[in-house]
Amino acid sequence: MTLTGEQFIGFEPKAQGQTSFQAVNPATGLSIAPNFVEATSEEVHMAVQKATQAFLPYQQLSSEQRAIFLDAIGEHILALGDQLINRAQEETALPQGRLQGERGRTINQLKLFAEVVREGSWVDARIDKANPDRTPFPKPDIRQMLIPLGPVAVFGASNFPLAFSVAGGDTASALASGCPVVIKAHPAHPGTSELVFRAILQAAEATGMPDGVASMVQGGSIEVGQALVSHPGIQAVGFTGSLKGGRALFNLASQRPNPIPVYAEMGSTNPVFLLPGALKERREALASGLIQSVSLGVGQFCTNPGIVFGVESEETNQFLAQIERELPSLAAGTMLTANIHQSYVHGLGEVAATEGIDVLAKGKDHATPNFAQAAVMRAQISDLLQHPELEEEVFGPSTIFFSGKNKTELLAAANSLSGHLTATIHGTEEDLMDYQELISILQQKVGRLIFNGFPTGVEVCHSMMHGGPYPATTDSRSTSVGTLAIKRFARPFCFQAFPEAVLPPELQDANPRQIWRLVDGTFQQH
Ligand code: NAP
Repeated sequence: MTLTGEQFIGFEPKAQGQTSFQAVNPATGLSIAPNFVEATSEEVHMAVQKATQAFLPYQQLSSEQRAIFLDAIGEHILALGDQLINRAQEETALPQGRLQGERGRTINQLKLFAEVVREGSWVDARIDKANPDRTPFPKPDIRQMLIPLGPVAVFGASNFPLAFSVAGGDTASALASGCPVVIKAHPAHPGTSELVFRAILQAAEATGMPDGVASMVQGGSIEVGQALVSHPGIQAVGFTGSLKGGRALFNLASQRPNPIPVYAEMGSTNPVFLLPGALKERREALASGLIQSVSLGVGQFCTNPGIVFGVESEETNQFLAQIERELPSLAAGTMLTANIHQSYVHGLGEVAATEGIDVLAKGKDHATPNFAQAAVMRAQISDLLQHPELEEEVFGPSTIFFSGKNKTELLAAANSLSGHLTATIHGTEEDLMDYQELISILQQKVGRLIFNGFPTGVEVCHSMMHGGPYPATTDSRSTSVGTLAIKRFARPFCFQAFPEAVLPPELQDANPRQIWRLVDGTFQQH
């Protein structure tokens, strides 16, 4: 497949813009052909207009048709074969194995949403039947279900060029709920984005989807994304990236004459608590496990464990001594973009210059472009309490170990934390009994609490919660991974006193789709 560098306004390619950019191979620093034309505001407008026109016909398709479309996207992505993996590797420097795994995850994610749509109970149907004999007033017939919001703007993330990008979780969940999407491709992997988007278009054409069910605009500057979020036709936004970017888009969406929800996942530092019993029992495995988790994917995961806590002890000293010994032989890898690399180097410099911080150890350095050197730093909990900025994300393979004098200090550290995606507790059963308060505190701070594991690695399943209180996300009530993500792009709607014949199948008495419903207060499937 030949890349053309155009916008895709539904099925129609366009390139009206005067500005263009190229992808850059982060491992060599060299540009990669072709030129990608930046979308004009008129093209953004046309894409949203087409999405608006496609909304009703797309919403009115049967669930089976929507599920077939989602499955077909996965099949067309797979059919791109090595071209997709090779282009993604050139644009991101991620290893082939990782990209192949991510492609599998992307396809399985689409299939999982297709299953959810086919099964149908996600619409959360609720029926309260009429009671005309009720006194003093008759009770009306009221029937509620979730309906799609309308066109959704999706921002591809740089760190998951497949699973969180053009056909990633945000796109899959929006399309599954019945919303057309207008995608802003991430400029770090425009070619990968075009290939995947063409797969979406092929799937849309093959399965008879309306023109405009998906569009994609390119852009190397923030104006394209801003025009998209400001457009009155857009009804919600899905975003993964920096706090700065997510917050800017959230502010923009709130200032619109008709404000809309922004589901921005902006990362976090994912506190890890090493309790005394765990350090006594398995400090060697904990030290190796931490190094592995911090450096996985060159630390470019929103679940990277960036802050670690423990109580001062002989075991803690030995744990740190092992990191000091092991880290210098660790080669971390090439980062996704020159900007991300610069931010990492700058962020590390700022942390290292903060009062109380010692650099415990650094990984190998390589004289290649955008290479990240892993780093582990240490400080006291009192330093964190004095410098809360130490809690902020430094995107890359680094972490800070904070030691406290006792349990009270550990709990004070937990209490001081802001919102994160995850927190982790390593402990024994005895530790857990002793630190029950820690569990309660952390529940207020994060979306996912992990026991005796590491936060990197996010399972795509029905019960996953990948979100958390601000600043981890702009809406702690939702997840961007797992099937619950579908509800972000839907709203509750109820019919009052409508005749059966015009109700959607999900709300008809006969329950033709056999979905789970709350009928007069009882869950049932008949
Ligand atoms: P980013 O700067 O947040 O950019 C992500 C997307 O948001 C891009 O498409 C960008 O548009 C858009 N954007 C950013 N600021 C905007 C603004 N003010 N108005 C409109 N659109 C805006 O993320 P990145 O480029 O992938 O990486 C930069 C930093 O983000 C990293 O160093 C890291 O700190 C963080 N990050 C976090 C995660 C995570 O999972 N939490 C993932 C990736 C990156 P343009 O592309 O047009 O500029």
